[in-house]
Amino acid sequence: MPKTSVTGYPRIGKQRELKFWTEDYFKGRISAENLQENAASLRHGQWLTQQKAGIDFIPSNDFSFYDGMLDTVFMLNAVPREYGRLGLSPLDTYFAMARGYQGGKGDAKAMPMKKWFNTNYHYIVPQLDDAMEIKLNDAKPFDEYEEALNAGVKTKPVIMGPFTFLKLAEYRGKKNAADFAPAVTAVYTEILSRFSDIGAGWVQIDEPSLVTDLNEEDVKLFKRIYGPLLKNKGNVKILLQTYFGDIRDIYSDVIGMGFDGIGLDFVEGKKTAGLIAENGFPKDTLLFAGLVNGKNIWRNHYGKTMGILDGVLKTVKKENIVVNTSCSLLLVPYTLESETEIDGKIKVNLAFAEEKLSEIKEISELLDDAYYKENPKYTYNLSLINSKKEYRDKEIQKKIDALTEKDFTRLPEFAEREKIQKKILGLPALPTTTIGSFPQTKEVKSLRAKFRKKEITKEEYDSQIKGKISECIKLQEKIGLDVLVHGEFERNDMVEYFGENLSGFLFTKKAWVQSYGTRCVKPPIIWSDVKRTKPITVETSKFAQSLTKKPVKGMLTGPVTILNWSFPREDVSRKEMAFQIALAIKAEVQDLEAAGLKIIQIDEAALREKLPLRRADWHTDYLDWAIPAFRLVHSSVKPETQIHTHMCYSEFGDIVEDIDAMDADVISFEASRSNLEIIGDLDRVHFKTEVGPGVYDIHSPRIPGETEITDKIKAMLEKIPKEKLWINPDCGLKTRGEAETTPSLCNMVAAAKACRS
Ligand code: GLN
Ligand code: ZN
Repeated sequence: MPKTSVTGYPRIGKQRELKFWTEDYFKGRISAENLQENAASLRHGQWLTQQKAGIDFIPSNDFSFYDGMLDTVFMLNAVPREYGRLGLSPLDTYFAMARGYQGGKGDAKAMPMKKWFNTNYHYIVPQLDDAMEIKLNDAKPFDEYEEALNAGVKTKPVIMGPFTFLKLAEYRGKKNAADFAPAVTAVYTEILSRFSDIGAGWVQIDEPSLVTDLNEEDVKLFKRIYGPLLKNKGNVKILLQTYFGDIRDIYSDVIGMGFDGIGLDFVEGKKTAGLIAENGFPKDTLLFAGLVNGKNIWRNHYGKTMGILDGVLKTVKKENIVVNTSCSLLLVPYTLESETEIDGKIKVNLAFAEEKLSEIKEISELLDDAYYKENPKYTYNLSLINSKKEYRDKEIQKKIDALTEKDFTRLPEFAEREKIQKKILGLPALPTTTIGSFPQTKEVKSLRAKFRKKEITKEEYDSQIKGKISECIKLQEKIGLDVLVHGEFERNDMVEYFGENLSGFLFTKKAWVQSYGTRCVKPPIIWSDVKRTKPITVETSKFAQSLTKKPVKGMLTGPVTILNWSFPREDVSRKEMAFQIALAIKAEVQDLEAAGLKIIQIDEAALREKLPLRRADWHTDYLDWAIPAFRLVHSSVKPETQIHTHMCYSEFGDIVEDIDAMDADVISFEASRSNLEIIGDLDRVHFKTEVGPGVYDIHSPRIPGETEITDKIKAMLEKIPKEKLWINPDCGLKTRGEAETTPSLCNMVAAAKACRS
């Protein structure tokens, strides 16, 4: 039977065990040995699960304590000086790079983090400087391979590819990617030879960067690295694994290089099938066909999948096809087993990681069956897909059809509104604010849990939440912030909270996916047309505003983010879903305005992350509906109502003009972990929107000093007119503790005051 493979498996644990162990370790509650033992047991279980499911190529070294790119930094000895200098144990040095370190041995900020291609997973960005000695520094890949072997599972070790590593790294000195290539290639050669020595059959090398736009230089770099690697691979076979798209810019080169296996994505790779048909495929190479979607949660459509395979079979022999996931399953939850409350009719149409394993196996069976169309597994699958009830709402569709240009245009124009708002709000120069959430303490979480479990009544719950809001307003007044927030204590998550209050969304119990480090999210599933059934945030916002003379921001999540951080349906376009959600949030904006809120923030934290990887698709596939969806939400507000938006990890230098075209009045974004490059871009396009580039990093418990923030503000003022600059942290404070939050904000306010004077 055709073979089966998995590119990578989730690693946080079905019950998020790894998260809790790691956090216990951070708090000093368990030892490093305990943490290692626990992690080993988790890996062990997952290998056996995949083995039991009949997967032939099971990954190892897809485990990580924080992030696979950080593992690679460590493996290549690319540890920046400031962390090495702390003199910590290897594990603690690793965690210091991930989270920053502040303690007896010194002070170091966390390394920058960015979104992993077009996903909501974040990787640590390698920081290469000229003096680094690139060498093999870690035995993790070999240890995990042998650990699996001891558990009776012969795995396919996975390593991050050298090309992708060099493409995603930042260069702090004079040397560039090409300069580092020889040293990096030497380490990878050594890795392959070690694998060869210990008898590993296949090694999977991940090169997702191959699906991005590549130029000649890139192709040259790739060949420069892989030429020697392929020559010196010893007894191992190399699987070049790509995902998140097709490799059109390098396909014809890759097929001529002598890889033993090539992994291609048939789900997001629009041109993958065409590339094979047009250019052929090497006859002695295995095609790892990414057919089972590693990003969605829907049952695989065997009709479509077999259709693709029928096409591929014209070029590639059946024996050379390995049925694979389209990318690592890291991006989907573990199993439907834990979802006891999802309606059975819907549940049969879903597939999480474990269920996807059986799909892989079934597809390989169908591939082996000349009469697959009569195979009961095939016919059963089709009957389920066809029975999927189409949840359409005529009323919503009518509203969307009736939208005209006017619905997407806010009047009067920005400059005029800006004047009106400055007068009405009367804020000082360099106004200070936060992004919305305040620390979600144990107390707050347990309060929500009690309410969920119906241990307290709605009245008790509401009154306790109000208590938290009052405390939060008092605290902000004491700190001296200018624009206040209510603190978001009633929200578990900025998307789930809104989803729960809109029709059309489905919720899971344990469907966690990793976002960064130990942080996980539980994306809702969009199942039918979306509609607001009742006001969502009006009560809490109104209450918060009643407690203070300072303006309180109403706090909403925008349509693009709600869509991007959910699992979307596949029977309706993303544009249509975005517009449906936009109409729902628009109704909320109108109610907030009517309730007297002068400032409303509509977060679009996730807008940038779904920007297509290829430039040619940016507008047509995405921005041409995403930006209008945002405009639709706020187009009808009064000129004096100030609309804010917020974005996370905004590497949006390339699309600053589109961001400006969202036509918000103020935008805050992450800027402290990345350097201030973005400020130059704003300056270049004469960005009209007022801006609050984050002045300190909230993803780390480290407290920024007043002078440090003052310096940051001064640097910003060199490029941003003082009338346009806001002072805020770079994201919401919900993941932080109270202990570091108050002093950090006090330092921020003090710094703003110093700069004002
Ligand atoms: N308003 C949200 C908060 O402060 C924004 C979160 C985010 O950008 N991810 O938590
Ligand atoms: Zn954010």
